[in-house]
Amino acid sequence: MTIDGKSVPASKTIPVTNPATGAVFAAAPDCSQEQLDAAVDSAKRAFKSWKNTPIEQRQALVRKAGDILIEHAAELSRLFTQEQGRPVDAAFMEIDGAGKWMHAVAEMTPPVEVIEDSDKQFVETRYVPLGVICAIAPWNFPVNLAMWKVAPALIAGNTVVLKPSPFTPLCTLRIGELFRGVFPPGVFNVISGGDELGPMMTSHPGFAKISFTGSSATGKKVMESAARDLKRVTLELGGNDAAIVLPDVDLDEVAQKIFFGAFYNTAQICVATKRLYVHHSIYDALRDRLVAIARQTKVGDGSEQGTVLGPIQNQRQFERVMDLLDDARKTGLTLLTGSDVPDNGGYFVPVTIVDNPPENSRVVQEEAFGPILPMLKFDAVEEVIDRANDSEYGLAGAVWSKDTAKALEIARQIETGTVWINQNLILRPDAPFGGHKHSGLGVENGMEGLLEYMQPQTVYLARG
Ligand code: NAD
Repeated sequence: MTIDGKSVPASKTIPVTNPATGAVFAAAPDCSQEQLDAAVDSAKRAFKSWKNTPIEQRQALVRKAGDILIEHAAELSRLFTQEQGRPVDAAFMEIDGAGKWMHAVAEMTPPVEVIEDSDKQFVETRYVPLGVICAIAPWNFPVNLAMWKVAPALIAGNTVVLKPSPFTPLCTLRIGELFRGVFPPGVFNVISGGDELGPMMTSHPGFAKISFTGSSATGKKVMESAARDLKRVTLELGGNDAAIVLPDVDLDEVAQKIFFGAFYNTAQICVATKRLYVHHSIYDALRDRLVAIARQTKVGDGSEQGTVLGPIQNQRQFERVMDLLDDARKTGLTLLTGSDVPDNGGYFVPVTIVDNPPENSRVVQEEAFGPILPMLKFDAVEEVIDRANDSEYGLAGAVWSKDTAKALEIARQIETGTVWINQNLILRPDAPFGGHKHSGLGVENGMEGLLEYMQPQTVYLARG
């Protein structure tokens, strides 16, 4: 681990499994309460000078950290594939992309607002950092989603203790090592551990804020735990995103995009299309195209050439997805499957399209977070908007149509934090991203995301 700028071993370890084989291939440190305390203490000490370090210098160091990620993207991507499962070239894209994302965040400077500048008084509102940030990341985009937190938190003048998921600790631990030469000791700490470490962190009184990405169920526990010390929270949680396909689309053009919007990263994306509503007049034609793409898409070990989709990332998630598939089979739903998957102890699930299941079936109502896509027919736009919005989630959605005015009108009625028209999965560092309803609280990215790591301070200066 990286605590106070030093390499710190733990007396216990947690196993790390390669999801493509089901075999344990490494051990990661299991952080103790004393080591967590040491990380928080070190971050508190470092905060005193880091918050007073000129922002240009903080931005320069975050930029340098981004350079290091880019330089080490090839090395890290091999490790990434072993622990996360995604094919190496796609893993490279995440790490290289995270470096570039850090560069973009390093361009942002929080505003200073002059409220009054008169003979009587001068009043300005500026933004100050919070203190020590507890950053908790999931396993689906372990590097990217961690850096979404680390970059703005550090630029804002906070210090950080970062915890990766127990399922994907290795790349993050290695990044801790790589950044040791960049940030002063204590500014950026990385610890890892099992299921107990998250709650130990969220209940630790030394943190000023928790920035959490993970499931809605865990997010609610995090908020409860944070309430005791009134810790600030940003929660990026689950989604059950609907895409609406109108009858005027060019099917050959959109099928591939819709397919990867649903199945990229083996469908383990918070903003993946998880319910596909298709106008009845083009339903069969789009379904057949999607099934044909599924049959041509190689699912396998991400370290093998030609693999497009890897395994489910961990056994717990694999069992959840299998349970959902069992339920779909038992309730008589029609499942259309893609290419065969390896039968070797890895957590593989074939790409599965569920043919027009009832709206109230589990596969429609629950976030699968695996390659099971329910396709549903609709007749009228008003009806499908209601069906899309009838969810406790509100993360993202998509509309597909050549009639962009109509698509925009529909997009404005979708109750989610992000809506795409004729594209999907596109996010950018300068636009706020967050969930409505049970999909989250607060935002990441954009100026709003940076300001979530700060608090306003208004200074009144009397004159005359
Ligand atoms: P998870 O909630 O199981 O775990 C997320 C992280 O929280 C892990 O690091 C875990 O160790 C930690 N954790 C677990 N229990 C905790 C507790 N009680 N207190 C504090 N921390 C705890 O989620 P996951 O299975 O790793 O990730 C998948 C979920 O994340 C999906 O629901 C997905 O939609 C969501 N997600 C959301 C976004 C977003 O930006 N909105 C992005 C990616 C994933």
